[in-house]
Amino acid sequence: MTTTKDITSLVRKNILKMKPYSSARDEFKGIADVYLDANESPYPNAYNRYPDPLQWSLKEGLSVIKGCSPSQIFLGNGSDEAIDLLLRAFCEPNQDSILLAEPTYGMYEVCANVNAVSVQRVALTNDFDIDADNLLAATNASTKIIFLCSPNNPSANLLSRQEIETILQKFDGLVVVDEAYNDFAETASFISVLNKYENLVVLQTFSKAWGLAGLRLGMCFASALIIDILNKIKYPYNVNIQTQRIALEALQQKNTVARHVEEIKQQRTWLAIELSALTIVEKVYPSDANFLLVQVTNPKAIYEALLQKGIIVRDRSHVRGCKNCLRITVGTPAENEVLLKEMKKI
Ligand SMILES: *Cc1c(COP(=O)(O)O)cnc(C)c1O
Repeated sequence: MTTTKDITSLVRKNILKMKPYSSARDEFKGIADVYLDANESPYPNAYNRYPDPLQWSLKEGLSVIKGCSPSQIFLGNGSDEAIDLLLRAFCEPNQDSILLAEPTYGMYEVCANVNAVSVQRVALTNDFDIDADNLLAATNASTKIIFLCSPNNPSANLLSRQEIETILQKFDGLVVVDEAYNDFAETASFISVLNKYENLVVLQTFSKAWGLAGLRLGMCFASALIIDILNKIKYPYNVNIQTQRIALEALQQKNTVARHVEEIKQQRTWLAIELSALTIVEKVYPSDANFLLVQVTNPKAIYEALLQKGIIVRDRSHVRGCKNCLRITVGTPAENEVLLKEMKKI
């Protein structure tokens, strides 16, 4: 079923009306011998020219891997840039809202706060899943974006695909599916249904499976209409030359990344079994990501004891629905051994 939703009417009116900044590299896109149009230095080094504002080479390479059109890709300084731009493009300050299913990734709320957009919340079910009817009932005329994180941070599980599709069909605003951890899950990306749902936005990142958190490169996939709006309001040269070059090279290392992901998944299974056997561990939640949410007897004390041994985990015990929980990233086999050895001593 293809739905018809009026995405343009969701965009803030000032954004629709405004003329975007036009850079030198927007106005002349070809190849020339002499560039005297951008006030750059003429003395060559690796960085004396501005980068491609729309990162076309990288998008071409990504479009093959992801199975979408380059015009359906936005690249930003981390996926956090896309989250912020979506809020700025679609949510009127002091008027509109976003809906979150908690517990979830903290940046959605931070970006909403920065942009004076209010946050509506529903609780995930006891097994951290969503209920479409429950979410839809929590929306109102001010709700512009529903953020769904799948696999979810910090609960580590995939959300029910059927429930997400129901929300995509019934909700008239945008539905953002944050797939930062999808490489570690067994299910296909929502990118495969981009052409079916014009209100779908998919976020992915180079920060996790690709091993490039320090590079700061995030991906956003949506209809060309939505991508054009993000491009209209982004900083002109938001992804630098070095990042574009290194990411393009990384695409050639796809097989190495896949090997690392396989090892992480094996280690995740092993670590979950080993942790479950400890008396200080009450529950290890199922994980489709590269981390485990672990309910323990005394999170503060265990966090501190590990810290003393130079092992840092994330205390999530104060987060809604995560009572007594630590979030533990799956490391190398050697790191996981050390973690386990120290936890056995507590
Ligand atoms: C880590 C993470 C990201 C990645 O953010 P970047 O800005 O791309 O590093 C996005 N969403 C979630 C849920 C994450 O956990």
